[in-house]
Amino acid sequence: CGIVGYVGHRPALDVVLDGLRRLEYRGYDSAGVAVTTGDGLAVERKAGRLANLEARLDEVGRDGFAGTAGMGHTRWATHGAPVDRNSHPHRDVTDRVAVVHNGIIENFAALRAELEAAGVEFASDTDTETAAHLVARAYDGLDGGSTAGDLPASVRAVCRRLDGAFTLVFTHVEQPDMVVAARRSSPLVVGLGEGETFLASDVAAFIEHTRDAVELGQDQVVTITRDGYHVTDFHGEDVSTRPFHVDWDL
Ligand code: GLU
Repeated sequence: CGIVGYVGHRPALDVVLDGLRRLEYRGYDSAGVAVTTGDGLAVERKAGRLANLEARLDEVGRDGFAGTAGMGHTRWATHGAPVDRNSHPHRDVTDRVAVVHNGIIENFAALRAELEAAGVEFASDTDTETAAHLVARAYDGLDGGSTAGDLPASVRAVCRRLDGAFTLVFTHVEQPDMVVAARRSSPLVVGLGEGETFLASDVAAFIEHTRDAVELGQDQVVTITRDGYHVTDFHGEDVSTRPFHVDWDL
């Protein structure tokens, strides 16, 4: 239902939780966060209100979430009950890829069957989890493609196989300074700060940090880093974009 992504110079957990709070008005049934740390991925997710997730973070302690790149999600369940294990972010079996998703991957059952035939064990009932495994496998060159070691190219290759409406946001622990996102028939906006870049399903999530934004078009992939962003179509062709200034009040 709501998505936030961040790469910058501040603690990503704070920025992401803040963004999720600003998207709460949209309604949701679960929430979760992932931060890329020096040790890998720190992930926590919880059914129910954002307050449940924050209580959980207080319980486990936030020390393990030190990092300046991350993502957050509020879920409106379409595939799989609204329980902890179906909450986003989802991860691949090697725990290196994290994904959050708004929308529906219509052909997930066929993709899941293909992955299970290749020995992948699923940890949730969601359509979303297929995307985590597919991107991890493309990044590792296990899909027979030529995108190994290239996260944006891996995301593009996977998106070309997906049917449905989606905003998807990915991180990979081997690419700690970038977040890659894709959209088809579901909103995605980039926020441009000084030494920090934001992603969100709605500008409300980052408006307190920056009012300079770029809206992604249909079937486009964006890579954000601390220093900016780069947009291509699903085939890797560069797309020129026109930043706008949000001069209305929310
Ligand atoms: N289809 C996904 C799920 O059920 C995402 C739902 C959403 O947009 O929050 O987990």
